[in-house]
This record gives sequence, structure tokens and C-alpha cells, in this order.
Amino acid sequence: MNLLVRNARLRGRDQLVDIGIEQGRIAAVAPDLAASAAETIDAAGDLVVPGFVNLHLHADKALLGEVMRPNVSGTLPEAIEITNDFKRKYDPQEVARRAGRVIETGIRNGTTFFRLFADVGTIGGLRAAQGLLLVREKYARLCDIQVVAFPQEGIVRDPGAAELLDEALKQGCDVVGGLPWYEYTDAEARQHIDICFDLAKQHDLDVHMLVDDTDDANSRSLEYLALKTMREGFHGRVTASHCGAMAGYNDVYAAKIIDMVASANVTISANTHINLVCSARLDREPKRRGIARVKELLARGVNVVSSQDDVDDPYYPFGKPDQLEVALMMAHTAQLTLPHELEQVFDMVTANAARAARLADYGIAPGNKADLVVVGAPSVRQALRLQPPRRHVIKNGVEIARTSVAQELRGP
Ligand SMILES: [Zn+2]
Repeated sequence: MNLLVRNARLRGRDQLVDIGIEQGRIAAVAPDLAASAAETIDAAGDLVVPGFVNLHLHADKALLGEVMRPNVSGTLPEAIEITNDFKRKYDPQEVARRAGRVIETGIRNGTTFFRLFADVGTIGGLRAAQGLLLVREKYARLCDIQVVAFPQEGIVRDPGAAELLDEALKQGCDVVGGLPWYEYTDAEARQHIDICFDLAKQHDLDVHMLVDDTDDANSRSLEYLALKTMREGFHGRVTASHCGAMAGYNDVYAAKIIDMVASANVTISANTHINLVCSARLDREPKRRGIARVKELLARGVNVVSSQDDVDDPYYPFGKPDQLEVALMMAHTAQLTLPHELEQVFDMVTANAARAARLADYGIAPGNKADLVVVGAPSVRQALRLQPPRRHVIKNGVEIARTSVAQELRGP
């Protein structure tokens, strides 16, 4: 073996196991493996999980918080306005430097797959996409990256955006983005979705849209997205992020939509911590949470994930990024605190997200890719509670990051 991870605790399994790794793949998983290896890592009874998956990260905007004016209203429209001032002057190298810093932190926190959103439109042209494509190349050894060509200013209301999206995909972007709810009318939102699917079919790529990211319960583009997904046979190839308007739907309509989403096998990336900050800003009291109906989606068997979304930018002043922190936020905002719900939350940043990205050979089993994280805690609950350092991060069978923290209590 090239690498042995000894005394690993796997989710849902009492007995500790050893994980043998050869040629970047998991070769064996068993207690007390009788094998030797060039290198050995002792997990010492801590949880070992597959690499975290962050399915939605605006890496082009990340860390603008260091240089921007503050978002005084805290709302999405003001965040968009602030970002536009920077986008006019974007330079791909500068975008890549900011994004790279965030990717490096994400890797140290155990994320081995990122789906990065690049704004594509008439304000910033292709410069953000070109910057993130540079990042994909630079970090290829340390993590897998997909770049989404994302029309942040809309498509119908931003003439020229459709052509730029097509060009971004030709230049190497991996996923077709979308923002239908941002169009001026319902008819144009549907037109937006049609254009995205035309591009997806033409380039044979998956779709990831930001949907109904508003408190307006009349924002219903998720309905058409689910319908379109079914009609085009894109089952399992579409992700819808946010969908916060769902919180305001009447229960009958919400049940119908959740049913359609399940039938179309559309993944929902709820990113609830962002909505908790940005939604319902105009409410007095009681104040809505403005998040997707996570529990109802889970109950209907929908693939739900949660992603970092923003890191220190006009939309959100926090974020490391760290998918374990994202999972903890999800547990709070969606009130998922029972033992089986904590497992569901953990799936949202691992297996569910991997399924949405259609990652083959993901997970801890022989034959799969050796992308592993030794989390410094013995269980999912303790990992969520303590947010411990990721002691070892392994990508393609090679240790790429290691963290240890020295703390000393003088007393009592
Ligand atoms: Zn987003």
C-alpha cells in the first residue's frame, strides 16, 4: 500500500477499521489490516469521512469584504450594486488570487471538491470566469473544481448575456448557471430557463440555478424549472439553490412543488445561513427565516445539500469556508437536532452534494477515490458541536494538508 489510515471510525460502524490506499484509490477497508505501507496515519479512533463537497461558492466575489464599502441595508440588491462596482474593473489574475486564498482555506478544512460560480454578463464580461478557470488549473492536484457560468444580471434583462454564457462554456466552464427569478416578469423567467436548457443540451452539461431567492411568495420559477427538467429528461442533472420563497408559499402549493422537485430529481442547495442573513430584511415582527422548507423536502426524499455560497463579500461578512461550519448552520436554521437529523445534515455536505455533482467513486469503500478527511472528533455530533481541526486531508491518496492545534489550560 502507499498509505494506511489506521484506527479510523466510519459513520454507522462501531468497530474501528484500517483504510489501505494504493494508486490514489481505496484498496481495502477492514479491521486490523495485515498490510504495510510507505506511510501511515493514525486516526486514533477519530471520524474519517470522504472529502467535503462545496457545491456553491462565489469564489470570484470572495474576500471583497476586505476592500468594499459596507452593505448598509444588508439586502441582496445592495450587495449586487456593490459587487458591480468591482466587476467593471475585474482582472482574471486578481480574481484568481482572491479565489485561491479561499480555496486553500477550504482544502485545509477538508473540502476536496468545489463548484465555483463565476459571474458572466455584460458588466464583467468573461473576466470572472477566466479567473476561476485559472484557479481550477492551479489547484488541480489539491482539489476538484467545476466552474459554473452564472448570469448574475439575468439573461433576458441583460442583452448579450446569453452569448457570453455560450462563450464561457466554450472556454471551458463546466456547468450552466441560471438566475431566473431575477428577470422582470414570470414569462421572462421561463424564457431564461429555456435559454439555460438550450445551452446545457448544446454543450451536454448539467444545470445549477439560483432560484426564488426572495421573500416574495409569488416567485415561482422553481415550478417551471422542475417541469422543464422532467420534460427535457434532465432528472438528476439539475440543482436549484436557495428557493427561500418556498417559505412563503401556502402549504398546498408548497406540497405540489416539493412533489415536482422530487419527481424531477432536482437537488436543492438550501444554503440557509445566507438566507437567514439576507432574507426577511423588511419584516418587522414576527420575522421569517426565509429558508427553503428543508424538513419537508427531506421527508419527500429530495436530495438536499448545503453550501458555503459566500465568503466575506457584499452578501455575507463571514465564512471560512468550512463545510462543517455550513452543516452546523443548517442544523440550527432548519432545526435539525435529533440524532438521525444530524446524520442528514452531515450528508448534505458530503454524500448528497457528491450525488448532485454526479461524482463517481465517492465514499469510503474499496475501489473509490481516496479523498479522505480525518476529523478531530469521534462522531458526527461531536464533529458538529466542536468544529475540530481536520487533522489530515487526503486527496487522491496523498496527504495534502495537516492541522494540529496546541491549547493549554493553566489551572484550575
Ligand atoms: Zn449564491
